Amino acid sequence: MKRRKSRLIKIGKVKIGDNSPIAVQGMTKTDTEDITATVKQIEKLTKAGAKIVRVAVPTRRAAKAISQIKARVDVPLVADVHFNHRIALECIDQGVDKVRINPGNMGKEEILRVAKRAKEAGIPLRIGVNSGSLEEKFLGKNSDKVRGYREEKHREIVAKAMVESALQVVRLLEKENFFDIVVSLKSSDVLTTVLSYELIADKIPYPLHLGITATGPPPQGTIKSSIGMGMLLAQGIGDTLRVSLTADPVEEVRMGYQILKTLHLYEAGPTLISCPTCGRCKVDLKSIVEKVLSEIEEMKSPLTVAIMGCEVNGPGEAKEADIGIACMRGGGVLFKKGKRIKKLKKEEMVKVLLREIKLLAGESING
Ligand code: SF4
Repeated sequence: MKRRKSRLIKIGKVKIGDNSPIAVQGMTKTDTEDITATVKQIEKLTKAGAKIVRVAVPTRRAAKAISQIKARVDVPLVADVHFNHRIALECIDQGVDKVRINPGNMGKEEILRVAKRAKEAGIPLRIGVNSGSLEEKFLGKNSDKVRGYREEKHREIVAKAMVESALQVVRLLEKENFFDIVVSLKSSDVLTTVLSYELIADKIPYPLHLGITATGPPPQGTIKSSIGMGMLLAQGIGDTLRVSLTADPVEEVRMGYQILKTLHLYEAGPTLISCPTCGRCKVDLKSIVEKVLSEIEEMKSPLTVAIMGCEVNGPGEAKEADIGIACMRGGGVLFKKGKRIKKLKKEEMVKVLLREIKLLAGESING
């Protein structure tokens, strides 16, 4: 997939832009002043694969906690700061790796002060526009009329306004020779978000951080995030991403990787192919799939495993996969690297499949 060209930016040890791997971000949901709880959650996010972690910094005390948190974790930290630029300055003094500011709630002069300090510290800024805090002036004479996203013209007005809001700050920073910029344009409406990123993609050379905001709990939130980010990633747009769910933040990181894997933008860990089953299926496919998945989900090797319900699509999918089983009455047929290996009895299917996966992956799996 041809990716949009963007400038290389470093967030601590992580490089984004310029064709670097798309970084999955996590965000803590703890009170940042509670250092122990925040560090614990960051460790969980890192274990799940988060390459960058953002923390909310609403107070000076939270800003002062940054250096202590940083000393205890091994992942670049981003401070999410709204309203008070002095908090952003404090975060930079505390050694944060990037600051996210929102032009909807911070004045130009204040943003420039933050940029000056960020430049001295050698860290990037994210201009994070959010439709929920968009300055009314960018909606112009439409501000009273634009409510909701059902109408296409409303989505266009909001998307253009978000782009204008970001561009104004980008131009301001460029005038001050500040180019360590990342941009995000998030809306809770999928199509508005997609349009805003499409509109800005050719206008600036900076990396784009993707996200659909306030998507709700899974599965709704996961579906919204997958559709929105998927539409953009498939066009080559996006350098980092975060899935925002009303759920455990570890789930957000997992879903981020799932989106990337689906588009072949990240290749690690198993990919499971299993059919929905129908009246032709003569085995308890759901329980077979659950047993196998629970054993292999922590695996690192990028193996495709197919578990199919019958001979209609089973042999084809099992042959396409690295390893697979096409089930039939009383058992199934094992395929490996495109070759039919042998017939298996129902009772031995899971055990043999797991053993063969382990051999193929060259690594131990659960159990
Ligand atoms: Fe039905 Fe067979 Fe297709 Fe599964 S593979 S959905 S059992 S026809």
